[in-house]
Amino acid sequence: MEVGVIPGTPLNLYLPDASADELIDPPCYCYVASDGKRTVIVDSGPDRILAGAAGLEIWGDTTELLVAALRVFGVDPADVMYVVHTHLHYDHMQNDLLFPNATVLVQRAEVQWATGPDCDRFYLGVRELVTALGDRLQMVEGDAELFPGFSVVLSQGHTPGHQSVLVHTAAGVVCLCGDIVSLFANLDVVGSVCPNLQQTRAFLDRARIGGWKMVPSHDPKLREHRWYIGPFGDETRMSLQPETKGTDLS
Ligand SMILES: [Zn+2]
Repeated sequence: MEVGVIPGTPLNLYLPDASADELIDPPCYCYVASDGKRTVIVDSGPDRILAGAAGLEIWGDTTELLVAALRVFGVDPADVMYVVHTHLHYDHMQNDLLFPNATVLVQRAEVQWATGPDCDRFYLGVRELVTALGDRLQMVEGDAELFPGFSVVLSQGHTPGHQSVLVHTAAGVVCLCGDIVSLFANLDVVGSVCPNLQQTRAFLDRARIGGWKMVPSHDPKLREHRWYIGPFGDETRMSLQPETKGTDLS
């Protein structure tokens, strides 16, 4: 589900060989997964107003787009059991409070880093969120299975407690990478958004060995994915038939 766009991002943050003045507008995606009994949201996207007030511009009616996309999938936010965060940068976590009954799952190391003295400005609103969630915040350490067919793996690379999400589907094991793989090209090239090269390479090796179908976090090409849903022409209209669109890029 595409919920917004970060305008004017230097491409060389992702691809070191790109020219310094080349900019892209990376989409922000959230994901919904269900086994028929349990519904999970992976990342909740930015809030345009909250981010904009701090000078972090976002295009798109983020929160409204997320609600509209969930409606297309027939998901009532009150029925969402888990919200899982790849990490706690603002473009991945600002709509958690839409889900009043969800347990929010994050790596303990990520929460500690994001609420500590050394974190950067991209952890916008994390302290407030932690307070608001109270005991709905569940912290995991390392790899963990939430229920059969759905697990998280500690991937780091991008942030100290970054995790990726594995979903067993009829098409194989899908990896919702998070920002350790922002673009499909980052399956081969590591950019400066992943300052820990060793952790990033270790994760990419593990993914290759596992044969995971990799879904990057910010690649515009995902708009062609058959599971994509998002703004379609004007931002208030949604594509209604995700299963008939495009081809499976993963
Ligand atoms: Zn991101």
